[in-house]
Amino acid sequence: MVRILLKFSEKIVEEPITSQIILELKVPVNIIAAHVNSKGGEVLAEVPDESLDKVVKAFRKRGVTVSLPKLIEVDSEKCVSCGACVTLCPVEAITMDEDLTVVFNKEKCIGSTCSACVDACPARAIKSVKQNNSELAAGKAR
Ligand code: SF4
Ligand code: SF4
Repeated sequence: MVRILLKFSEKIVEEPITSQIILELKVPVNIIAAHVNSKGGEVLAEVPDESLDKVVKAFRKRGVTVSLPKLIEVDSEKCVSCGACVTLCPVEAITMDEDLTVVFNKEKCIGSTCSACVDACPARAIKSVKQNNSELAAGKAR
């Protein structure tokens, strides 16, 4: 499965675009996290690797911006091993080794739809980073 970030503008946020695409393509689109209000929405979804290309094209055709979600990066030089990020992470994507080193699991992280650890870190040791979106470019999606 591949995780993609879908951004819906105010103009289209109330349209049932995701369900239309699931029905039309007969592809499962799992919603992992969503922040939606009347001004727009950001949805983190998971789609099968082999269907990524057609799902991306279908969303873009309907005016949805598709990208890879931002993930986080932990600067171990700055980290003071306070554990705040470990406690706050809703999906247990951050753990701490026996030597108090922070370990990040990118497969679990729900990225920019969360960012709880970035905001909570007292040492500013965590930052949100963009992933390379080149494989999602038109016609190049896997
Ligand atoms: S961004 Fe959220 S999900 Fe990802 S590691 Fe930080 S707290 Fe966990
Ligand atoms: S919140 Fe920041 S300082 Fe505390 S353990 Fe996590 S990365 Fe380290």
